Amino acid sequence: MSRSGTGAGHRARTPPRMLEVQQVLELSPHMRRIRLGGRELDGFPAGRDGAHIKVFLPRPGQAQPVLPEPGANGPVWPPPEQRPVTRTYSVRRYDPDTGLLDVDFVLHDDGIASAWARQARPGDRMGIAGPGGPDPMLGQASFYLLAGDLSALPAIGALLEKLPSSAHGQALIQVPDSADVQPLDHPEGVAVSWLHCRDPVLGGRRLAAWVERLEWPVAPCSAWVAGERSAVVAIRDHLRTVRGFDRRNLYAIPYWRAALSEEAFHEERHRIMDELAADAPRQPDRGEHG
Ligand SMILES: Cc1cc2nc3c(=O)[nH]c(=O)nc-3n(C[C@H](O)[C@H](O)[C@H](O)COP(=O)(O)OP(=O)(O)OC[C@H]3O[C@@H](n4cnc5c(N)ncnc54)[C@H](O)[C@@H]3O)c2cc1C
Repeated sequence: MSRSGTGAGHRARTPPRMLEVQQVLELSPHMRRIRLGGRELDGFPAGRDGAHIKVFLPRPGQAQPVLPEPGANGPVWPPPEQRPVTRTYSVRRYDPDTGLLDVDFVLHDDGIASAWARQARPGDRMGIAGPGGPDPMLGQASFYLLAGDLSALPAIGALLEKLPSSAHGQALIQVPDSADVQPLDHPEGVAVSWLHCRDPVLGGRRLAAWVERLEWPVAPCSAWVAGERSAVVAIRDHLRTVRGFDRRNLYAIPYWRAALSEEAFHEERHRIMDELAADAPRQPDRGEHG
């Protein structure tokens, strides 16, 4: 099998880990928890719940994904026709004591990762790399907004669990159906509201309208927004232009785009992320988010 190297500019990184499905839990009609474990999970960093990971799935006809092998200049990937299908997911929970990692997959109508999760059973294998993303994901604030759709629910659930018990804020989560509502641990001062809508784009519009109506306290605020592209961009634009947020207190990442696969959306997602990163930091005025 011919393998290609990563070339110049390679940074030493932990190579992808091959993990094994230990358990599959039905969380709701549209979400399955895949509980992963295995020897290669040793050394996975604790305390990164909510961060993103790359997942590597088998191509059609493969029993398990083909992961890169270690080479002198970094990981050496298999030829393109054998490379694994790559997607981005979130660490819902990693427990170093039990050595188990939970990844929650949205079950939607169409998609390689969704189809894989729908059929996953104990013993199946999946690769992961990471975790990555900002650490911590939320800066310190007096008021937190967490908003997103079902794809963002795993990260929102993890972030709510990590907030200090004295935290104040609001989480708003759009799910297809009332049966997709999950019990979440959250500080008493953080209200959790659910919006039900089967059409994710229409649901995203409602999510954005809800954020526009939110009454902000006069206090340092932090906002975390993820989900379908149109909603995330609409909320991001509102928070930046009307509420004065900038990249220091706003995480706004489009996780997916209606009618596009992750590969097809990849470049646009990075352009949208760069737009936020290019924001010139501004000094917050007192009550700028009010
Ligand atoms: C940082 C980050 C973290 C993420 N964390 C999670 C997570 O924890 N759990 C999770 O489920 N997703 C998560 N996502 C979203 C996930 O990566 C995408 O939904 C991905 O496209 C799913 O791959 P797929 O193979 O199922 O569908 P693809 O092959 O990528 O897409 C096929 C079709 O399905 C549609 N589609 C894709 N996702 C959805 C969806 N959620 N609902 C309805 N239609 C969809 C596409 O528009 C396309 O038409 C995350 C994304 C990012 C960037």
